[in-house]
Parts: sequence; structure tokens; C-alpha cells
Amino acid sequence: MIDTHTHVDARSSEDFEMMYLSGIDTIVTCGFYPYKLTNETVLLNHLERILHYDTKRVGEYGIDLKVALGIHPANTEIKPDLIYENLYKWIENKDIIAIGEIGLEDLTEEEYQIFKGQLDIAEETKTPVIVHTPRKNKKKVLKEILTILPDHISPELVVIDHVNQNIVGELIDTDYTLGLTVQPQKMDKEEAIAILKEYGFDRFLLNSDMSNKPSDPLSVAKTVRELQRLDFEKKEIEKVASKNAKKFYKI
Ligand SMILES: [Zn+2]
Repeated sequence: MIDTHTHVDARSSEDFEMMYLSGIDTIVTCGFYPYKLTNETVLLNHLERILHYDTKRVGEYGIDLKVALGIHPANTEIKPDLIYENLYKWIENKDIIAIGEIGLEDLTEEEYQIFKGQLDIAEETKTPVIVHTPRKNKKKVLKEILTILPDHISPELVVIDHVNQNIVGELIDTDYTLGLTVQPQKMDKEEAIAILKEYGFDRFLLNSDMSNKPSDPLSVAKTVRELQRLDFEKKEIEKVASKNAKKFYKI
């Protein structure tokens, strides 16, 4: 199984052991610095820690950690050029599988500029992007995101994440991949399963988004087990458990 969106830097070794035992063999982790950024070097240190340190820390538990790095919309108070330069380098070295997570949160001018800047790098280098949608003002912010994306990036490179029942209807007829985040305070496994039941398994990735906020590192495993218990077809479950993610991220 693959957990397709996490923040392992905020989690403990015990979580990785439990995840491995529950059948997770690959985790995708994303950049997000949860504290105030004094300058861009602090963000670069955070991203390099994920790349060089967390990959080893998680790997010790038998899990392959795949890395997505970028400037999260909550981290847009810095000058982005140093991170942009490093993104090109990480992509060229195949250190990262995606740029992420990126997106919009409070719709500030800086957020728009840095979101577009990273989409352009992704399109130029044909790198997938993980696009965050916020907890608050989800519909309004999604509308902005859907206006921006077509001018900057090909849809097959984009996963729109934290999709729930309120917004799935607006996305199902697009060509984007859609991420379902099963996390306390965001969405429970029943809602994720209801979405899969209604819209099918082809377009979706599953993740826990485990972070410094209340999280369940086993939420992907629990959702997959529940789908099995409810007798959904094995072939369909396989798509959200790993197949769609392997195809999207080319891993
Ligand atoms: Zn996240």
C-alpha cells in the first residue's frame, strides 16, 4: 500500500513501524514548515532535512520514502528564488518525484505568484505537482486554483488533494487526479468510501496527510481494509491502494 501524502518530518519512528506492519510499503512525504519562517534558508534546511535525513529514518522501518518538495502556501512569506533553483537541481538529480505540496490558502498576492512559479517549473520539467486545497474556504479557493491551472500545466501532471464530498462534483469531469485525505477533522473513511462508491476508483489516490495536526498514520490501511471487508472488487481496491499512485508518480 502507498500513503500518497504525508509529512513524516512531524512524525515519530513508532508511526513508521506501525505503518509497515499494517502493509504500507511506500510513503510520499511533502514539504511544509509549520513554524514562522525568518528567511528562505530556514525553508531550504527543512526541505533538505526531509530529503537527506527522513528518507533514511523511514527507510530503517522497511518503508520506501518518496519525496515531494516545494513551497507550501502557508510558507510563502519568503523570497522563492533559492527554493526554485534547488527544485531544478532536485528534479534533475531525480531526488524528488513531485513538487509539493503547493497551492493557495489565504489568496495573498505572494501565494498566487509562488503557486504559478512552481506550476511553471513543473510544466517545464514535466514533474507531477501535489496541489493542496485548504480546510477553510475550500470551494472558493478551489475555484481560483481551477482558473489558474489550465494556463500553467498539463492536467496529467496534477493531483488535487484533500478532495471531499463538497467539491468532488466540481472535479470529477476534469482530467486531474484526485486525492482523498482520511484524517481526523478532515474526512473519515466512510466519506472516502462513499466517494469511491459513487465515482469509481480510477481517478483517486488515498492518503493520511499525517502531520503535526491530529492524524491517523493507519488511515490508509484502515480504509483499504474496510473496502475489503465491504467486498469491493479486489482489482478496484488495488487502484487506490497503490496502482493509481504508481502510475501518477511513475514509481
Ligand atoms: Zn499536507
